[in-house]
Amino acid sequence: MTKIGVLALQGDFAEHIVMLRRVGAEATEVRLPRHLEDLDGLIIPGGESTTIGKLAVAYDLIEPLSRFGLERAIWGTCAGAIFLSKDVRRSQPLLSLMDITVARNAFGRQVDSFEADLDVPALLHVDPDPRPFHAMFIRAPLISSVEENVRVLAQLPDGRIVAAQQECLLATSFHPELTMDDRFHRYFLNLAKTSDR
Ligand code: GLN
Repeated sequence: MTKIGVLALQGDFAEHIVMLRRVGAEATEVRLPRHLEDLDGLIIPGGESTTIGKLAVAYDLIEPLSRFGLERAIWGTCAGAIFLSKDVRRSQPLLSLMDITVARNAFGRQVDSFEADLDVPALLHVDPDPRPFHAMFIRAPLISSVEENVRVLAQLPDGRIVAAQQECLLATSFHPELTMDDRFHRYFLNLAKTSDR
């Protein structure tokens, strides 16, 4: 069974765990470096990226997480995507694993949260039905630029990037764990199975 950890310092880690179990993965909470040992992949949930970063510093997780991401799969949703990135145009603890620049709170405040149907061709790898992915954006970040080694997976109708992949690293501005659509979780499970260990 594929074993996926969910960073459980702050944010909506419980929803990811429910979804992972639903798609047939073994799921565990990660709070300490030793919890990373036998995992095939890790999800960093949504929440507040500055808080997640500060707690990761306090629990000595920055270095172990960065090392983990060099060989195993990590998926960041929303705040998790911010934490995975290299550049957020301000100073806060980051894993700096993905060659993307992220703009925090790019769509405005909590009241400006919205939902959108996204065309995500990569999901055809896990499900042949080409239906759009109904995505929820909650004080969401925008992936404002990606380097050429990063593949864009989804864009808003105006072209703004909201999902990207760099080898076995995945970043989404939105929250698949808050929907009933498990295609992103199945997509990530495949990445985790195929990353080297
Ligand atoms: N606004 C949060 C941040 O900047 C992210 C919000 C979320 O994860 N839903 O960290």
